[in-house]
Amino acid sequence: MKTYKGYTQGMLTVVSERYKRRDGKYWIDCRCSCGKHCRKRESDFLLRNVRSCGCYRGIRMQEYHRIHEYKGVKYNMTELAALWGLPSRFISYHLRKGRDIEEIAELAEARQKREKQ
Ligand SMILES: [Zn+2]
Repeated sequence: MKTYKGYTQGMLTVVSERYKRRDGKYWIDCRCSCGKHCRKRESDFLLRNVRSCGCYRGIRMQEYHRIHEYKGVKYNMTELAALWGLPSRFISYHLRKGRDIEEIAELAEARQKREKQ
């Protein structure tokens, strides 16, 4: 019998054997690193369609709406991205690496310069 117990993917760890539900599909129970338990379709898990209980999107949204102060003005990530002419994922990437807005501004400036050459 195929088992995925103990497998991890993204924030999920499989905590059950697979089992068949009424839809005729195999499902597995997972524990998310946020602490929640959830049930996922085995096929979604194997195809890497899922990587959290659903909280990942929430974290991304929080990040998206967080307000940052830059040169005394308050911006959200979208506004900073527009200000610097960069995709917002550039900013979120560096925020996740623990950089502050001033550092990211310098990186953004350096990148803009490089692109203009
Ligand atoms: Zn979660």
